[in-house]
Amino acid sequence: MRTTGPGLLIVATLLAACGKPAGFATLAGKPAALVDAARLAAADADPGQWMSHGRTSDEQRFSPLTTIDAGNVKDLKLAWHYDLDAIARGQSTTPLVIDGVMYVTTTWSKLFALDATTGKLLWSYDPEVPGDWGVNACCDVTNRGVAAWQGKLYLGTIDGRLIAIDAATGKPVWEKFTIDPAQRYSITGAPRIANGRVLIGNGGAEFGVRGYLSAYDADTGEMLWRFYTVPGNPADGFENDAMARAAKTWTGQWWKLGGGGTVWETIAYDPALDLVYFGTGNGMPWSQKLRSPKGGDNLYIASIVAVKASTGEYVWHYQCTPGEVWDYDATAQLILADLPVDGQTRHVVMQANKNGFFYVLDRATGELLSAKTFTTINWATGINPRTGRPIENPAARYDLSGELFTAQPGPAGGHSWHAMSYSPKTGLVYFPALDMGQGYKSAPLDLVSQFKFNIGYDFLATSLPQDPKIKAAAKAGTVGRLLAWDPVAQKVAWSVEETAPWTGGTVATAGNLVFQGKAMGQFVAYDATNGKQLWSAPTQAGITASPITYSVDGKQYVAVVTGWGGAFAIAAGEIAKVKRAPTNTPRVLVYSLDGRDKLPPAPDPAVLPLQPPKDFGDANMLARGMALYHPYCSNCHGDAAISGSFIPDLTRSPAIADEALWKRIVLEGERSARGMVNFSAEITPEGAEAIRAYVVHRAHQVLAEGQ
Ligand code: CA
Repeated sequence: MRTTGPGLLIVATLLAACGKPAGFATLAGKPAALVDAARLAAADADPGQWMSHGRTSDEQRFSPLTTIDAGNVKDLKLAWHYDLDAIARGQSTTPLVIDGVMYVTTTWSKLFALDATTGKLLWSYDPEVPGDWGVNACCDVTNRGVAAWQGKLYLGTIDGRLIAIDAATGKPVWEKFTIDPAQRYSITGAPRIANGRVLIGNGGAEFGVRGYLSAYDADTGEMLWRFYTVPGNPADGFENDAMARAAKTWTGQWWKLGGGGTVWETIAYDPALDLVYFGTGNGMPWSQKLRSPKGGDNLYIASIVAVKASTGEYVWHYQCTPGEVWDYDATAQLILADLPVDGQTRHVVMQANKNGFFYVLDRATGELLSAKTFTTINWATGINPRTGRPIENPAARYDLSGELFTAQPGPAGGHSWHAMSYSPKTGLVYFPALDMGQGYKSAPLDLVSQFKFNIGYDFLATSLPQDPKIKAAAKAGTVGRLLAWDPVAQKVAWSVEETAPWTGGTVATAGNLVFQGKAMGQFVAYDATNGKQLWSAPTQAGITASPITYSVDGKQYVAVVTGWGGAFAIAAGEIAKVKRAPTNTPRVLVYSLDGRDKLPPAPDPAVLPLQPPKDFGDANMLARGMALYHPYCSNCHGDAAISGSFIPDLTRSPAIADEALWKRIVLEGERSARGMVNFSAEITPEGAEAIRAYVVHRAHQVLAEGQ
């Protein structure tokens, strides 16, 4: 059917009213997502927009908006909400708002365009990621957001694609595989833009991949450059001098294992220096004894790296954790700022690293200016100011000792990916910190597995002991805090101890406010200077995502997406489940001073009853089931068969009472569209039944504990 003129408008309006893609939807005839270098450079003069992931390419997440301030924030009310058509797992997105349109991503890499003043759906886009790929997303099938440039949006997908989407229509323009689909890469991070180049990394350092950052032409999708973070096989020749130098810091045949060092989250850009900054993840496997048997720093894992934006050429690196073995990715957000250091203004890059140190580096040279701990650590005692290297606790190298070592921080990090913000007004950096220890013990690699974490780590030996005293101590010792950190003095200015850990990212505003979502289902505003809580609203679901603020026609809004999840939630089992909101609706919440919206009543948490069938496994069967559960199942369904997140808790699953149903799910892929992969290539029918016996047994133990 051919329709022109008003007819097309009517059809489109009707489709929009039905909540279906309108085909050309945009607001008031404005072109969509027109972002360019000049506009980004002048972002502070146009503060109603949120045009890139960290608002500006320095990733400060500081909004100059002042209509909502410490005096009137108590009057903030819900303006609108929008229920996202997404599974109720971890939402990690930072929405963009450009010229009155909000672009928000969800689990399984879906993208929604909403009217930023009303929440009306303009269009949505689903890249249709195959459910089976979920097994390659180590830490939830989450997505942290899109980038915008000259009318297009750029979306990374769990299965490794970079897709350019027409911002006006929601239709794909080009699509590139950024990975080798035969390898277990994934993308959860937001692409960034450096003057017309789309920058995208990936995850998978737990699954045997070699990390890199790529740049694509925003118009055409042509790959412009790729910077590998670890060297490949020397026999193939090195891509550049940086790789040749890096190879001297490795031993053995690391390339056979991939090497790791994935760039799965932070990327910042300094247009004046033409430098792109990014952080790299852990080495693959975690055990250095297995990946580089004679030690070495293993460049450029666990490092902050600067390359030229135009060419991808190496400029400098600072390795936060040389020869890293504890999953201390250096992938937490990098913020570029100008700070007074020793009487001089220094152009710095800052990071609150997973390893527990807050780093301030000169961003032109990589020189370490200072580093101090912001949470409890025991793997090191400080940084040697002369060498810039950590002073390690030798006992922490569990791969060398062969012993169990409980390290602080654990793999969840002293601070992970959750967005931090910097207010030039207060001079403080705001981020959620985590105090938590975890056991580390070596295990042999299983290089043939397509499903396991192949990291040389013993998931069974490090499972939470079921001794009530140990469990109580572990729960009490897991503490979340919102920190306001003075990066010049390198100390806490103020902090708030959370009722539950693993809270959301932050945004700071010129209204002297800091906003943050909580795991227990609250959205809170603090006085940025002193940490006094000024406002809060119940959100029903917990929050891990990062808030933004924007304005349209002079009215300021504050937005956040609900949906709790991510690495700590899905893997930490009982420790994660101890405190969390009872429901997990994926929803955009937007607040204003004159808001009149109301949330519908919270859904029934619908917790399934704990009604296991009769215990049926003998000691051998239970031991086998437990050994298979860790690590095949525990990284999603939770340590010791207790789900910390909203991925089904198997102790309460009806499938444990139904042998045939259990087999269809575990061995026939009945729920693979939802990410529950078919494990039959590696788990036998007897093995599946042993896992069922173990889960049933655990359900009886949980019953006996009265949970
Ligand atoms: Ca990692």
